[in-house]
Amino acid sequence: MGKYDLPQVETHLYINGKWLEGSEGTVDVVNPATGETLASVQQGGEKETKEAIEAANKAFEGWSRTAPSERAKLMNKMADLVEEDSERLAKIMTMEQGKPLAQATAEIQTNVENLRWNAAQGQRIMGEIIPSPEGKQWQARKQPVGVVGAITPWNFPSNMIIRKISPAIAAGCTVILKPAKSTPLSALALMELFHKAGFPDGVVNIVMGDSSTIGKILSESDDIQKITFTGSTEVGQILNEQAAPTLKKVSMELGGHAPFIIFPDADVELAVDTLIKTKFINNGQVCTSPNRIFIHKEIKEQATKLIVEKIREVTVGNGLDDPTTGPLINEEGVKKVEEQLEDAVAKGAEILAGGHRLTDGEYANGFFFEPTVLDGVKKEMDIFYNETFGPVIPIITFEDEEQVIKDANDTIFGLASYFFATNIHTINNVSNKLQYGMVGVNDTTISNSATPFGGVKHSGFGRENGTFGVEEYVEVKFVTIASEK
Ligand code: ADP
Repeated sequence: MGKYDLPQVETHLYINGKWLEGSEGTVDVVNPATGETLASVQQGGEKETKEAIEAANKAFEGWSRTAPSERAKLMNKMADLVEEDSERLAKIMTMEQGKPLAQATAEIQTNVENLRWNAAQGQRIMGEIIPSPEGKQWQARKQPVGVVGAITPWNFPSNMIIRKISPAIAAGCTVILKPAKSTPLSALALMELFHKAGFPDGVVNIVMGDSSTIGKILSESDDIQKITFTGSTEVGQILNEQAAPTLKKVSMELGGHAPFIIFPDADVELAVDTLIKTKFINNGQVCTSPNRIFIHKEIKEQATKLIVEKIREVTVGNGLDDPTTGPLINEEGVKKVEEQLEDAVAKGAEILAGGHRLTDGEYANGFFFEPTVLDGVKKEMDIFYNETFGPVIPIITFEDEEQVIKDANDTIFGLASYFFATNIHTINNVSNKLQYGMVGVNDTTISNSATPFGGVKHSGFGRENGTFGVEEYVEVKFVTIASEK
């Protein structure tokens, strides 16, 4: 196989342990680096979604009663298979999504960790024995919630799936997955491995097809007990509304607009290095990407100079050629960046580096954009309030600690936030007052298999990963047992 050839991968729906054609034709998957069509993927609709719901419900009876140690064995087997197959999985991801191979490989390794972590945690879902009156026994039991509908986005097309499926099946739930339209191949490659690992039929199912049709059926069905979603706030609101009449459990990991604050006492080099590394993960197409860079005026000149220097070292290209960063996902992604920059410049911001779409030579057929630094960002600019999802570093200058906290919180979103400081009072004060689900202090590694990931405000609710992640897939049942003397 050549360096630029797509590895062999399934293109069918996977329902009840079988690979099936869909009733709604096919959709092409396009490589965002080259514009070439990689594969045509089968599409289902109402019929297939209902079949998957039936299969998952049937499978739940057996899977929920399977010993946690047996479930763990299969999950560890799955982890081994993902690890062995990581080269193929990473290449598929890079080709359909665009991120550099090194980042895709790291994402696959995160899946391995996540599967192993949850395999262990599934065996430690403890209830409680509660002190009770004589002659009674009070128990709080934890039971799997039931059948789960999982809807996932394209930016982390493999890990967003595993971080949902893995705690769900560890707890004894069964799953129907609807992956993003532009990145179904990573999802299908995982389904191949679930099949190979030997999970019983119907425990894990995948339906590709029209998002709103499938999303509506999953969220409205009384045969689904939980919806877990990662994606935009707009779609999260729709799903939440559709799920309300059946009062099902819901978790929502939605948009973000992370502040990244550099205080005057910070290690400025560390802050800038971390900023550049974090910003170019997935070319800025991450809901936790640093999107508003607040720099104290005392260190503004030093920090800005460093940012511009470092951004010139960022290389852009086809993810298979080992660049720092790849293309954007599609034309719409490029347009959004262009519009935000245009608006900011018209309102007085200054472009210090980059600022243009890349169109020549190897960039001609892909969705590439220059790494960009934008200075003088103000509240009247669209970029101050709206998620960019692209390779732009917007700089805002600040003078006062309390004011910058207010400005950082001045957003409907509340997912990730970061700041760099050394003064213990600043660290305590700012981490207390930032209204975010996650705060990184001198650190941006907020996504780990063992730690709670999620947001507040319009970034959603519920937590993924860690002990909190598994709790999203269990119900507490109180049992009181009276025994005769
Ligand atoms: P993104 O910017 O990540 O594409 P979206 O929220 O648009 O964010 O998409 C995330 C996931 O939600 C994708 O799988 C997409 O197909 C799906 N989706 C989009 N619209 C709907 C909808 N109306 N109902 C259910 N799912 C949807």
